[in-house]
Amino acid sequence: MLVYLTGAGPGDIDLLTIKALKVIKEADVIIYDRLANLDILKEAKNGCHFVYVGKENGHHIMPQEKINETIYQNSLKNNTIVRLKGGDPFVFGRGGEEGSYLKSMGVKFEIIPGITSAISVPAYAGIPVTHRGVSVSFRVITGHESLSKNSSQIDWGSLKNDDTLVFLMGLHNLSKISTKLIEIGKPKDFPCAVISRGTTKEQKTVVGTLGNILQLSRDIPTPALIIVGRVVELREQLHWFK
Ligand code: SAH
Repeated sequence: MLVYLTGAGPGDIDLLTIKALKVIKEADVIIYDRLANLDILKEAKNGCHFVYVGKENGHHIMPQEKINETIYQNSLKNNTIVRLKGGDPFVFGRGGEEGSYLKSMGVKFEIIPGITSAISVPAYAGIPVTHRGVSVSFRVITGHESLSKNSSQIDWGSLKNDDTLVFLMGLHNLSKISTKLIEIGKPKDFPCAVISRGTTKEQKTVVGTLGNILQLSRDIPTPALIIVGRVVELREQLHWFK
């Protein structure tokens, strides 16, 4: 038995790694959750078993302990187990938690990194996360946490030092995120974009500023990320994906 904690990439099936495709084709069971592209599952062999560990009964996200247990139980009955995750398993993918759990249970695993949405989705929108003379650093931040003053784990003041900020899981907190960034001193007209369903046929990019992005990106569907920085302006020259 061997569990592959595998990155599925951001959506475009051609952005799957050769190694990921190889194990998907060999898998006896594939355990997956919210993937941007379910067509990947069509690559599995006949008789491969699929286990969905996303929202239970369409409502609550399955607790991580239950997902760990599901992977473990499947590892007892199968040779090749693929735990497939959107993007990269170690970028807000809880791949580390699953790896530690498997180790504690004596189950062998391998990590197959994936192309993370944090970099590839901006790239498909024509936005480089770094650019000579414009951005010497980028930071990937969760937008999911509670952003209220007392409980935020993000050191907001320190975000001043990074040229490009990429927020994942932050669409529902967009108002709080843009307000916080203005509070720490970013100008209201600072460039900002929201990119939805990046690298897929439904990719949509909304370009604005910290001051108006909330208004402009109303009704935009998930998954979506927020990118903040002068690099957003490069899209004018670099946008290519239709
Ligand atoms: N492990 C993943 C990220 C998991 S967090 C990775 O490396 O990409 C899930 C968040 O990623 C979503 O809320 C969204 O912010 C972002 N995301 C994932 N796929 C995306 C896509 N195709 N387009 C835009 N954002 C995406």
